[in-house]
Amino acid sequence: MKKLSVKLGIMFFIIFFGLSTLMFFFLHEGIVESRVNEELSSLLARGNSHSSVLAKSFDNETLSHVVLMESESKTDIVVTNKQGNVLGSSDQLQLFEKYLSEHSNSNIPKEGKVIEDNWEKEPYIVTISPISNKDETLGFVYMFQNTKSIHSLIQQLNEHFILTGWISVILTIIIIIFLSRGITKPLIKMKEATHQISKGDFTVTLPVNSNDELGELAHSIQKLAIDLNYLKKERNEFLASISHELRTPITYIKGYADILRKRNVTEEERKKYLSTIVDETNHLNELIKKLFDLAKIDKNSFAIHKETIELNSFLQRIEQKLEHAFKERNIKFYVSCQNNLFFKADPLMLDQILVNLLDNAMKYSHVGAELELNAWGEKNKIHILIRDNGKGIPEKDLPYIFNRFYRVDKSRTRSLGGSGLGLAIVRELVHAHHADIFVKSKENVGTEFELVFQGE
Ligand code: ADP
Repeated sequence: MKKLSVKLGIMFFIIFFGLSTLMFFFLHEGIVESRVNEELSSLLARGNSHSSVLAKSFDNETLSHVVLMESESKTDIVVTNKQGNVLGSSDQLQLFEKYLSEHSNSNIPKEGKVIEDNWEKEPYIVTISPISNKDETLGFVYMFQNTKSIHSLIQQLNEHFILTGWISVILTIIIIIFLSRGITKPLIKMKEATHQISKGDFTVTLPVNSNDELGELAHSIQKLAIDLNYLKKERNEFLASISHELRTPITYIKGYADILRKRNVTEEERKKYLSTIVDETNHLNELIKKLFDLAKIDKNSFAIHKETIELNSFLQRIEQKLEHAFKERNIKFYVSCQNNLFFKADPLMLDQILVNLLDNAMKYSHVGAELELNAWGEKNKIHILIRDNGKGIPEKDLPYIFNRFYRVDKSRTRSLGGSGLGLAIVRELVHAHHADIFVKSKENVGTEFELVFQGE
């Protein structure tokens, strides 16, 4: 039994059926009891009315009149005197005798009483009413009602109950079928959708037409499909870019190596080709290193080791590290940092972020350009600004520069050793610190990158 709808249906049915059977049982018992009580009290009332008539004139004429009346009705009467001797009976006396002997001597209240109410087993229900004149008891009126009539009454009642029971069972089954289908149908659709997703088909559409948990689940599955589709597309593009990026240097290396192997080249040419091979190998090396960094970030396999950093001394160390490169390109580098700026960051990652940004600023600036690095604290935030007056980034390219392999000018940046991965790495590292990075740039004016970290 696999199907959820069947399981749900059976469960609902057992609950509904159990509850309604219990309710029907108590209702039936209540109705039967009240009907029997009604019969008993009307029998007793009838006996009492006969006894009060007889109390007024306890003579043969009245007696035979009362007996005659009862012989014509569905009830029966037996009248006895005070000693229990039968004075009159509306039917054969032997039918009633066993009820008379038991009660003739007992103390009977004025309003009479029921002396047999076992309608299920006995042939009669019986009441007794004393015939009393002032304080003297003259005799007794016994009233009998055949229990067949009660049985047929209960029989009718049972038939109604059975009919109602069947109708409610059929209605319950119909409602349950619709209800369990209503619940399981969206679940089945979602199961099919996840199956489709697991096979790599992300074009699933699930109707989200309810606000409940099922609706939320459908929405989540739909979102998952969209996200997976995006990731798949991104991964394919990424793989295509990687193979393209790797192919270019390898083509150069292979081409020049072939020339060197096959042809007789001059010493000067040999040096030139070899230096190209070395350059391309370095480029390849750099590319693989960056890809490895990104893969580590993607896998979340890098751990951040945050330490409290005093920014001024940290920036001075970076300045010393890059001093030589700046001098080589005749770039003026100005650092200004507020004293006693403390915040928590991973020093190795912060170093990588700043070096990447400064390296870009240097790469994309002309010889003799000016480069600034400012840092200050404001409202519990640490701002680090890197500004250059280099070639700038065209406005149309600005939104994409943090994308992997995105380069503004492919051929030129390649000659500068660019891979298009630097800023992608920077952004991942910045986000890993829950920090932000902003960029402003104007072509031929310069570029500004601003980092905003949470202060201590
Ligand atoms: P690359 O390795 O090519 O430098 P990045 O991801 O570091 O890759 O940068 C992406 C692109 O953004 C670069 O190709 C370059 O065109 C542009 N860029 C980045 N920094 C600067 C800058 N300071 N000045 C001008 N252009 C920049």
